[in-house]
Amino acid sequence: MSHYYYLIVGSGLFGATFAHLATKKGKKCLVIDKREHLGGNVYCEQIEGINVHKYGAHIFHTSNKEIWDFVNSIVEFNRYTNCPIANYKGKLYNLPFNMNTFYQMWGVHTPEEAKAKIETQKAEVLATLQGKEPQNLEEQALSLVGKDIFEYLIKEYTEKQWGRSCKDLPAFIIKRLPLRFTYDNNYFNDRYQGIPIGGYNKLTEGLLNGIECHTGIDFFNGNLDKNNPTPLCECWRDIASTLVYTGPLDQYFNYSLGRLDWRTVSFKTRIEETPNYQGNAVVNYTSHEQPFTRVIEHKHFEMFGQEVYDCPKTVISEEYSTEYHEGMEPYYPVNDHRNNTLADAYRQLAQQEPNVIFGGRLAQYRYFDMAPIIEEVMNITEM
Ligand code: FAD
Ligand code: UDP
Repeated sequence: MSHYYYLIVGSGLFGATFAHLATKKGKKCLVIDKREHLGGNVYCEQIEGINVHKYGAHIFHTSNKEIWDFVNSIVEFNRYTNCPIANYKGKLYNLPFNMNTFYQMWGVHTPEEAKAKIETQKAEVLATLQGKEPQNLEEQALSLVGKDIFEYLIKEYTEKQWGRSCKDLPAFIIKRLPLRFTYDNNYFNDRYQGIPIGGYNKLTEGLLNGIECHTGIDFFNGNLDKNNPTPLCECWRDIASTLVYTGPLDQYFNYSLGRLDWRTVSFKTRIEETPNYQGNAVVNYTSHEQPFTRVIEHKHFEMFGQEVYDCPKTVISEEYSTEYHEGMEPYYPVNDHRNNTLADAYRQLAQQEPNVIFGGRLAQYRYFDMAPIIEEVMNITEM
């Protein structure tokens, strides 16, 4: 077998961007993925002419012009702007929390009226806190937006999403969501946002263009050489100088310190015989009446106006959030004390591993959006 500078395990955005930039620097790369396709979690499946986000809805957003220019140099991005709708027991509200939401909730028209209403809604929790910092998600949410919004749009959704009470979750989770006193339904504050024209597979294909890639090969069980039964994890040094590993951190060390926990999501996807099922890409179901957290209608990420009707059917996915068990897809790291401490211990082992780069969401055990993943790779100076 020929010799490679890098063996890259995982063809998600971290592995694909790494392979792209290293190849540009003249380093020979080999990419493997245990899935039957490239692209990791941004992979899309074509159904009825629609790009279906197989591993969950992905919206690219960043304020970093360098990252935006980089991804647009691979594939041009469209003008999609994420404006999810919340459905609470049949009534609809705009997200994130903004003047439209406050009007729908209380009938207030001006920012001044909305602020006054939120102040009265917050009074109870502020009295209880007596100047102390909010200690959990419930206290944080109540002291940010008050009790009506907490009850209608946060409490039950969060319980479904995380499988535990808002009192048992860290405050920072809810700080991701913007709170605005303008009529602006854009879910993100970032300057740039969109979806690759033609879908995310175009981004993956562009990044990996001309690079040797093999799918269906598990680093821990598989080998590219049919005459060699030794798994790649034991013999990779025979074929590459450096390993770029983007799989789960604990698995690399054979779970020697214990297993890390994950949250996972699953999807029920179906075709609907209508061109326009819910009129929006994302509808969150914020009450316990529905067991799923949200419904994604994939065509709205890439089709606008008449294009929606030119495509006669639609594909929707109900998203269910569940506890992770072995054999499921690991999605979100669990940010509690046990897991953070365990991940730190594994990170120390990782630092002592010669010629191995641990990168991406699974190997760093950190929740990264797509743009920060690309930024991480760009910041690796010795490539
Ligand atoms: P991944 O995409 O998970 O790639 C890792 C790859 O490694 C996988 O293909 C896997 O098969 C492979 N692999 C693992 N182990 C092995 C092995 N033993 N052998 C071979 N291959 C292996 N970010 C945003 O910016 N916007 C969003 O809207 C957004 N929505 C999201 C929604 C959901 C439900 C989730 C879970 C994430 C979302 N993200 C979003 C985050 C985004 O998915 C990540 O930032 C990005 O996919 C991380 O890329 P990665 O390469 O680290 O990991
Ligand atoms: N959230 C909520 N109601 C919503 C949307 C989000 O309470 O309608 C809360 C929930 O706790 C979630 C957090 O806000 O975990 C962050 O939401 P975001 O949409 O950023 O989460 P993602 O699904 O992208 O991880």
